[in-house]
Amino acid sequence: MNEFDVVVIGSGPGGYVAAIRCAQLGMKTAIVEKYNSLGGTCLNVGCIPSKALLDSSEHYHQAKEQFKEHGIGVGNLSIDFPQMINRKRDVVKQTVGGIDFLMKKNKIEVFTGFGSYIDAQTISVQPEKGDAMVIKTKKSIIATGSKPATLPFIKIDKKRIITSTEALELKEIPKHMIIIGGGVIGLELGSVYARLGSEVSVVEYMDSIIPTMDATMGKELTRSLKKLGMKFYLGHKVKEVSTTAKQTTVKADDAKGNEVVIKGDYTLVAVGRKPYTDNLGLEKIGVHVDERGRVTVDDHLETNIKGIYAIGDVIKGAMLAHKAEEEGMFVAEVMAGQKPHINYLLIPGVVYTWPEVASVGYTEEQLKEMGTAYKTGSFPFKASGRARASMDTDGLVKVLADKTTDEILGVHMIGPRAADMIAEAVVGMEFRASAEDIARTSHAHPTFTEAFKEAALAATDNRAIHI
Ligand code: FAD
Ligand code: NAD
Repeated sequence: MNEFDVVVIGSGPGGYVAAIRCAQLGMKTAIVEKYNSLGGTCLNVGCIPSKALLDSSEHYHQAKEQFKEHGIGVGNLSIDFPQMINRKRDVVKQTVGGIDFLMKKNKIEVFTGFGSYIDAQTISVQPEKGDAMVIKTKKSIIATGSKPATLPFIKIDKKRIITSTEALELKEIPKHMIIIGGGVIGLELGSVYARLGSEVSVVEYMDSIIPTMDATMGKELTRSLKKLGMKFYLGHKVKEVSTTAKQTTVKADDAKGNEVVIKGDYTLVAVGRKPYTDNLGLEKIGVHVDERGRVTVDDHLETNIKGIYAIGDVIKGAMLAHKAEEEGMFVAEVMAGQKPHINYLLIPGVVYTWPEVASVGYTEEQLKEMGTAYKTGSFPFKASGRARASMDTDGLVKVLADKTTDEILGVHMIGPRAADMIAEAVVGMEFRASAEDIARTSHAHPTFTEAFKEAALAATDNRAIHI
């Protein structure tokens, strides 16, 4: 019988990071993954492949739209879409291979098969073929992630009515992709295909895209994505989605109740994701889940059953890879008797469109709702020399700071490389920086990061220099 100190079920960014940290802390560790490939949603059908296609499509778009102005002629520009998809597969393969290496390096035993609880300390692993194995463990971590959500009246056929997983593996560039949901997946994958020449229509229930982010971000991003040719049906309630062999039709009602009919060749359903605990045996061992199917955990990320923890998309909070990773480290350290800490307010959120959107801390809407007295400072990229040089003048940086103490409460950026730039704001806020601290910090010239310094100057008695 295989016996371990810890068994992790699920090898996404939550699970594999937890396993590595457990092994580093001296625990005999195993990981169970139902697929042949480690890395979970993020590495196989999420973060990594979507960013590979975002990069390829952005290169094409720049060559088509911007190279001429840079003085570069490219002759007959063309797209080899199968090659673009193949490159994406290679990126995934290399990244997943890296996780195999890390498992070996840390002496973590990998079990390939579907994991389910027999009792709180016994897990069965059923491979695709052959008999189930049984493993014993003192403690375990549920890191089984999430699956795409849908609407009750939509039948995902995976051919014409698809989820992000199929949208990353298409055989042709859609003529007209209809996207239900103007959130992160809809806008990232919508950008990919709009850049490659598809007509893209986004149908969003709320009256803004990326509705959970600071409202300025949604407004600015709509403007940029419209320039790419994307169409937005905001405040529209989808009521019917149908398909024939080569066409899909989406019917929605606008805010006044008027019916809108949109016809395309693919419909991407991107209305969120739901926790995945199917057939895990949670009812058998009495682990509680909430009304949304999320495994319930306490402040130590332990479930109601002692010794069983849960992390990542399967529990409450943002469904983000880096949030899952932080929680993976956290539970390992809790198990080892340490006292780790996660500041959930400072988990950044990023949308990898172009311009990129990145955000940390409170939004302006949240500060208003909380009744916090705040001040703001903004700086537009059109006033940045670096942004003019690279033809990336869309967007701005907005700093929200406490009116009395000047402590930074939120930073929201839309612009070039915002995904990387947000790290400076996260570090600053982790150390409880004031807007003036950032304003007095030297930023190399010319860089995009100067926009953050200028926004901080603007928040500090309107002292921005370049506007
Ligand atoms: P997952 O990555 O979902 O991993 C769970 C694993 O558990 C899977 O491999 C699954 O097969 C396995 N599993 C489930 N049940 C069992 C079982 N019973 N037995 C054995 N194995 C099991 N987040 C970001 O932060 N940045 C991004 O850029 C980003 N882009 C994304 C793009 C797309 C298209 C999608 C869909 C998601 C994206 N995300 C992104 C979200 C990110 O992928 C998730 O937040 C992250 O993968 C969650 O990690 P996890 O470890 O909780 O679960
Ligand atoms: P999301 O929650 O970001 O967006 C879903 C959107 O669908 C929302 O804007 C919502 O208002 C809208 N919606 C819901 N019901 C609708 C309806 N009936 N009709 C029209 N619109 C409707 O979810 P997602 O884009 O599917 O992404 C799922 C998860 O994956 C997210 O939690 C996200 O954090 C994660 N993800 C992250 C990244 C990233 O970090 N860059 C990228 C992709 C996915």
